[in-house]
Amino acid sequence: MTTKAVIAIHGGAGTIVRASMASDAQARYHAELHAVLVAAQKVLADGGSALDAVTQAVRLLEDCPLFNAGHGAVFTSAGTHELDASIMDGRTLEAGAVSCVKRVRNPIVAARHVLEYSEHVMFTGEGAEAFAQAQGLEFVDPSYFHTDARYRQWQLAREQQRAMLDHDGAALAAQNEAVKDDALPHEPIDPNKKFGTVGAVAVDLYGHVAAATSTGGITNKQLGRVGDAPLIGAGCYADDATCAVSATGSGEMFMRMVAAYDVAAQMAYRGVALEEAANDVVMNRLPRIDGRGGLIAVDAHGNVVLPFNTEGMYRGYARVGEAPVTAIYR
Ligand code: ASP
Repeated sequence: MTTKAVIAIHGGAGTIVRASMASDAQARYHAELHAVLVAAQKVLADGGSALDAVTQAVRLLEDCPLFNAGHGAVFTSAGTHELDASIMDGRTLEAGAVSCVKRVRNPIVAARHVLEYSEHVMFTGEGAEAFAQAQGLEFVDPSYFHTDARYRQWQLAREQQRAMLDHDGAALAAQNEAVKDDALPHEPIDPNKKFGTVGAVAVDLYGHVAAATSTGGITNKQLGRVGDAPLIGAGCYADDATCAVSATGSGEMFMRMVAAYDVAAQMAYRGVALEEAANDVVMNRLPRIDGRGGLIAVDAHGNVVLPFNTEGMYRGYARVGEAPVTAIYR
């Protein structure tokens, strides 16, 4: 038994102008991250599995309107929400994922059920919802995912006539005096450099790792567009022999780089430690194709890394028996 149990989480990466970011907005993000860490830390302290800890953390992040997953997810080009999530158990290499779900309250719970109760790894759209319904999972009216702040982001994005990355619309919203909504703090953000997926990685008291990732995708995305978040190996990966990884960023680039798996592969095939592998993917490989964002990762020894190639990433970690640490900037 190891005593290195730890949970790490992220809530998206991007460029945040520190000087003008309202301190109450900062405090709100820190408080939400802290609360999620405390809840997941307790799962681990009570002897729960890494899989249970990451499920709990991502479920709570989905329920929080500040983050682009579950309640608070971004809008598609049709004014709807299509949610993606994935989860992987490093102990068994079992995995589950759903994409393009519209009425499942917590996509990460659906992904967890796919992992546990299906012979398949991934369900999409109607089939995913039918599976979730058969599993007795909680369904909501699509309006549950609506938040005024995201709706205004979407309207502004449509005005711009282009797909935008998550909080990009918030930057425009900040410039628009008419937009006032406490649900989304008006931090100034570089219009091209903000992402908002949520995720968690953990190692439990028994030395097993797990990873989970969930997202609404990108604002004004085309119907049926799927990013890296629900793809095992791209936005999520876990293997006790190497590491557990959850990513956030420009999904298409993370898919092309098979980013999450590349961290594990570099450890396995190149024999490098977690930190070197994760930094190579985020700081060297992704930038080659203009991949922007970051990831969080743990190994079975309890090492934690949270690299990002943007100016900030909402993130934190909590070791069992120690105070949680949260951060936004470098
Ligand atoms: N990676 C996500 C996607 O492409 C977006 C994000 O991280 O915010 O769907």
